[in-house]
Amino acid sequence: MQDKQNPCRISVRSLLMRPDEVKEIDLTVDAETAALYGIPCRELPKLEGKLENKAGVLMLTYTLSCVPALICDRCLAPAETPVREEFSHVVVTETASEQNDAEYLLAPDAMLDLAEVAMTDLRLSLPTKTLCKPDCLGICPVCGQNRNEQPCTCESADLTLDLQQS
Ligand SMILES: [Zn+2]
Ligand SMILES: [Zn+2]
Repeated sequence: MQDKQNPCRISVRSLLMRPDEVKEIDLTVDAETAALYGIPCRELPKLEGKLENKAGVLMLTYTLSCVPALICDRCLAPAETPVREEFSHVVVTETASEQNDAEYLLAPDAMLDLAEVAMTDLRLSLPTKTLCKPDCLGICPVCGQNRNEQPCTCESADLTLDLQQS
């Protein structure tokens, strides 16, 4: 049962009621939604996995793969490191206080928006600092030279200075 406007929004009502019921998932988040979450993508987030009722507990297990089109925090070059990660969540229709945990996914009215789930997981899995490569030398704060391309001759340039902090 899918929403025509948003194929990533699915009803889990029948899954919740039938033990051992499985629903395969093969979805792609649209560009608009990805941008809405502040993560433009060169390859849109793809979800492959399943929703499974395991003895009355609804589990979502999926692999998220995409190529975010981010910008390096140090040198402003494109940083497009492919992401491929597995996630699993327990789907609940209402939260109890002890379920206030990222492991639990709330599906109000038994509706689950898998695009929302994927984008939230993706955002949490991305490093806080985006780098084009782990040893990016950045742009010289004195002369503006991209030090990955060519070293500059400034003496006291601080290699660890990030553009975000200046
Ligand atoms: Zn860089
Ligand atoms: Zn310089």
